[in-house]
Amino acid sequence: MSINRQLAHHTWSEVAGLDKSDGVVILPIGAVEQHGHHLPLLTDTLIVNRMLDAALDALPDDVTAWVLPTLPYGKSNEHTGFPGTISLSAQTLMAVLHDIARSLADAGFRRLAFLNGHGGNSALLEVMAREIRAATGLLCFCLQPALFVDPPFPISDEERRLGFHGGELETSLLLSIAPELVDMEKAVRHYAEFPEMGTPLFFFGPASSAWLSRDWSEDGIFGDATLGTAEKGDALIAVAGQRLADLIQAISTFETTY
Ligand SMILES: [Zn+2]
Repeated sequence: MSINRQLAHHTWSEVAGLDKSDGVVILPIGAVEQHGHHLPLLTDTLIVNRMLDAALDALPDDVTAWVLPTLPYGKSNEHTGFPGTISLSAQTLMAVLHDIARSLADAGFRRLAFLNGHGGNSALLEVMAREIRAATGLLCFCLQPALFVDPPFPISDEERRLGFHGGELETSLLLSIAPELVDMEKAVRHYAEFPEMGTPLFFFGPASSAWLSRDWSEDGIFGDATLGTAEKGDALIAVAGQRLADLIQAISTFETTY
């Protein structure tokens, strides 16, 4: 019989009795933040949930992995000024992650993986993974959203460099996941005029600038949303689901040398 992977569907006594020597607890983390005029605020949370479902479908039954309820809010202050964006402060999110990790460690779990759907969370999660490792003894991992957007189909060089928010890939994912929440008549194409030296030097390059989206995009979009299709979204999910499953399997038995 396959295990019930929804940790919060168990009772406390069942959790007490779980064999935790192998196995990883996965905490999905999303965001509620602007994604232009055509995508819902919940976009990143919907994406992370769908990616996790695809990964669990691809995960062999004998791999021990449990899933926590998704944390739907993240650190989204780069989208400040766009109504509907709900952002946890860095301090709040750090405290929440620490408290969840402490609770898992106290229950006897040995491994925690953040499954992150929002780029604005990434740096903080990397910091917190090490804080948690040192403070609680949990082995802590970061599965980052770059895993979700490595397309198995050609995209333009411009989209690859500048299409990182609400563009071709995220729009495709939402058209696959929740087409009823997408209004393609309002989809736009916007490539920010970032100063470049081959790559967007001050954004993700070696001199990053703590950018705010309102400084570079009136609509909140970075990329060409008009290129989104459900078929591309399906393809992204299939590739990412298998890749995530492989990583979860590897994490579930990960041990250090000493
Ligand atoms: Zn997003």
